[in-house]
Amino acid sequence: MDVKENMPENGKEEVVSRNFIEMAIDKDLEEGVYTHVQTRFPPEPNGYLHIGHAKSILLNYGLAQKYGGKFNLRFDDTNPTKEKIEFVESIKEDVEWLGADYEDRLFFASSYFQQMYDCAEFLIQKGKAYVCDLSAEEIRAYRGTLTEPGKESPYRNRSVEENLKLFREMRDGKYADGEKVLRAKIDMASPNINMRDPVIYRVAHMTHHNTGDAWCIYPMYDFAHPIEDALEHITHSICTLEFEDHRPLYDWVVRECEFEEPPRQIEFAKLYLKNVVTGKRYIKRLVENGTVDGWDDPRLVSISGLRRRGYTPEAIRMFVELAGVSKAQSIAEMPMLEYCIREDLKLKAPRQMAVLDPVKLVVDNYPEDQIEYLEVPNNTENPELGSRKIPFGKELYIEREDFMEVPPRKYFRLFPGNEVRLMNAYFVRCTDVEKDEAGNVTVIHCTYDPASKGGNSPDGRKVKGTIHWVAAATAKKVTVRLYENIVDEEKGMFAEDGTLNLNPRSLVVCENCYVEPLLGEASVGDRFQFVRNGFFCVDSKDSAPGNPVFNRIVSLKSSFKLPKA
Ligand code: ATP
Ligand code: MG
Repeated sequence: MDVKENMPENGKEEVVSRNFIEMAIDKDLEEGVYTHVQTRFPPEPNGYLHIGHAKSILLNYGLAQKYGGKFNLRFDDTNPTKEKIEFVESIKEDVEWLGADYEDRLFFASSYFQQMYDCAEFLIQKGKAYVCDLSAEEIRAYRGTLTEPGKESPYRNRSVEENLKLFREMRDGKYADGEKVLRAKIDMASPNINMRDPVIYRVAHMTHHNTGDAWCIYPMYDFAHPIEDALEHITHSICTLEFEDHRPLYDWVVRECEFEEPPRQIEFAKLYLKNVVTGKRYIKRLVENGTVDGWDDPRLVSISGLRRRGYTPEAIRMFVELAGVSKAQSIAEMPMLEYCIREDLKLKAPRQMAVLDPVKLVVDNYPEDQIEYLEVPNNTENPELGSRKIPFGKELYIEREDFMEVPPRKYFRLFPGNEVRLMNAYFVRCTDVEKDEAGNVTVIHCTYDPASKGGNSPDGRKVKGTIHWVAAATAKKVTVRLYENIVDEEKGMFAEDGTLNLNPRSLVVCENCYVEPLLGEASVGDRFQFVRNGFFCVDSKDSAPGNPVFNRIVSLKSSFKLPKA
């Protein structure tokens, strides 16, 4: 639901596109429901963030920015399960890397446990909450179904005094897990099952990573979340569609707890990527069984995986904007994300030569031991990136696929008798090949035309093919990794037994690659276009100074077309 409206400004008509959330905020501000805008990103620290979370982060941060408001990062850590603290740092790093600046507003929901407790007592005092002794199973059985109303708990009409006493005893550790719960007293006949006296506090004798053993009762998400929002003066609590049915409960909590300027919840559709693994459950399994190299494996769309793959925050932002914000579930495609990184790097990344599958090319009429330096632009489309000098010599490497002994029709690269341009260097004509006993080409021979220096035709004669190369004497040998989707796209995500269909070619390691000498000095954070081969970055885990390992971010070919505006 994207509405275009015309905003006249200085006599000029400017078309501003607003999504449905922005329209709701505009209305709230106009009607004075709120005087400011404050949003938050509330991750549960139980895993690494992925591209879907990036959408939520950038949406929330973007709204705060657009309206001159504030954006909070809040860890939703009310559920005291283990192994959480390690995720906090990774999430902070990812949020910061995406550029969503939460300034000094880093919060932990667990630091509000006392206020949540106070809210619970407040509800008890108002007769809006009661301690219930039914077991979890009984509560479920009493809850009814979509077509049948629920049944009231026999403990529903306990007095305020008794409820207070029992709730305090729950807090003081008098009861075992599951023995008693605190429930909101709403309406067992509500058509919305979430409103049928939901549990808002449970007993759990567990150590919390932040509060230790201070508490043995913990609030349920549906009770805790609105209170967290209200305490932080969040105005628009933006979440995904599965919480739509919980909104009446959200509203009930902030109303009955009598918060001033209560926040409101707005839901949008989650971002899904076709044939891409995002679920924590599946990623965890891939990590644990060693299929991938950790949560930041460059084949994953975890934010740390995308970062290690070489994606930029700018590309992710562009992708999220193209995907749009809507109430309708839709599925984005990986080629759109790839389009965004190509667009971002097109002019930013220097273009260099790297040979990934080398075969030797000897220029027979070039002087032995001579190395000459040719001045070449770093990016033919962006002169601001300047130029560099690259060495040329008698022995070169070219891609094996750029030579064919018996070429098919329309093959314009190197074959016996044919002349091609060595990019930025000279015209060469193939004269001969050497082969090993198995018939594999080992060396290709050619002669060059000294008058074609720079790759320019000396006399107007044309060549149809241009190939890249590196000089053997000065080349740096490196490892390059090529990636594809971890899922076998032809088979689809899941096999019949529920396991993932894995693509056996999702990682191809090329250990014999030769690159220009300057690339040997590349360091983590550097990104390049290797001409004709794609965009590459220096791997942050496996590179050493002077020994970069390159990851292919994306190939150059695209199947994605930007829809016409
Ligand atoms: P997952 O389902 O991958 O385990 P989650 O919803 O459990 O993710 P949370 O930490 O609870 O992870 O999510 C933090 C925020 O990110 C929530 O507001 C949630 O709605 C939002 N979010 C999670 N997944 C997506 C997605 N695919 N697209 C957009 N927002 C998402
Ligand atoms: Mg969740």
